[in-house]
Amino acid sequence: MATGAGAHGGTPAGVGSALAPNYHPLPVTVATAEGAWVTDTAGRRYLDLLSAYSALNFGHRHPALVAAAHAQLDRLTLTSRAFDHELLEPFAQALAGLVGPLLAGRSHLVLPMNTGAEAVETAIKASRKWGYEVRGVPADRATIVVAEGNFHGRTTTVVSFSTDPDARRGFGPYTPGFVTVPYGDADAVARAVDATTVAVLLEPVQGEQGVVVPPDDYLPAVRRVCDEAGVLLVADEIQSGLGRTGSTLACERWDVRPDLVTLGKALGGGIVPVSAVVGRADVLEVLTPGTHGSTFGGNPLACAVGLAVVDLLTPGTLQARARTVGEHLAGRLDVLLDRGLLHGVRTVGLWAGLDVAPGLTGGPASGRELCERLLARGVLAKDTHGATVRLAPPLTVEVPDLDHALDELTTALTTP
Ligand SMILES: *Cc1c(COP(=O)(O)O)cnc(C)c1O
Repeated sequence: MATGAGAHGGTPAGVGSALAPNYHPLPVTVATAEGAWVTDTAGRRYLDLLSAYSALNFGHRHPALVAAAHAQLDRLTLTSRAFDHELLEPFAQALAGLVGPLLAGRSHLVLPMNTGAEAVETAIKASRKWGYEVRGVPADRATIVVAEGNFHGRTTTVVSFSTDPDARRGFGPYTPGFVTVPYGDADAVARAVDATTVAVLLEPVQGEQGVVVPPDDYLPAVRRVCDEAGVLLVADEIQSGLGRTGSTLACERWDVRPDLVTLGKALGGGIVPVSAVVGRADVLEVLTPGTHGSTFGGNPLACAVGLAVVDLLTPGTLQARARTVGEHLAGRLDVLLDRGLLHGVRTVGLWAGLDVAPGLTGGPASGRELCERLLARGVLAKDTHGATVRLAPPLTVEVPDLDHALDELTTALTTP
């Protein structure tokens, strides 16, 4: 398996690169990884505090996930949904078993896709079709209420309701049918809901926005608004779900049961893209044969890995670990906040958003600069929206390793 450094040339992105410039990565070329640690092509080791935006919640190359993938690679990798395979129904049963009890309604279905954006698109399509066929919304008039600062993916429809100019500008004409309200304001949701509304689509915690946690009464109040109006609550848990916040779904934290949930990222165990919509059977039933699909959705390799992911989450120990290690992380970050080394800190489970302090002597001028300093100190993290850095270590991270990274963070905040 191991190929040497630069076996394929390794031209860095930039001058002479054949890559489209839609990313600005930190200057590190990763060669191998195990658990929470990655090694670059020069043999330097780094602790991974990004975890591929929570796609690596179980760490790199978790043995159970790699074993499941290897076993499936030797049997069957793709059938398309034109034919059935042995793991499709077991995967759906297992995921419905894990997540269904956390949702509204009594009976639940799973619709497997690949990427997160596809799961969101699927939830939008299901909500609209349900709105026309069940709620009786006039043809082509359906609206979905969304929140400012959202991140739901990169497709043309999804960026149509982004409020991030970089994500949106230049990609019109935009898909109509979305009404944007401030995040964290349930009264604004109530005012936006009318006879054309089919769903309210929200992230229970806005990850991309910098781990923004809403007020405690927000999601329960939105749930009540949805119940009173008879519209769907769709929770995008692609980043917040599957253990990150200390529970299987972030919605559990507020005892809120969404009608549909989108999952992705960690569902593929850091091995293959696996996403899904899990939700009320009476809603997902509107997607009859021919109305929606995906060539790769629910493929055997994806189901093998997805099943192993569900197995890892079923005992609840990783979720508990995210809570306890997360409390430790929050405690240490609060010290940095109290010392004035950070401007803001938001934590939930094993997930944190840090805002760099402007004008701090020797401090980083931006989130990017902090990440560059961390990189030089053997810690991988990624900035978002200028001044913010998100920390999302694998849920399996060892506490001494995390402490080491936080020591490096402390130094990086004051030492160029
Ligand atoms: C990452 C993410 C997506 C998009 O997932 P992709 O796999 O990149 O398409 C959608 N919603 C949320 C909340 C995400 O964090």
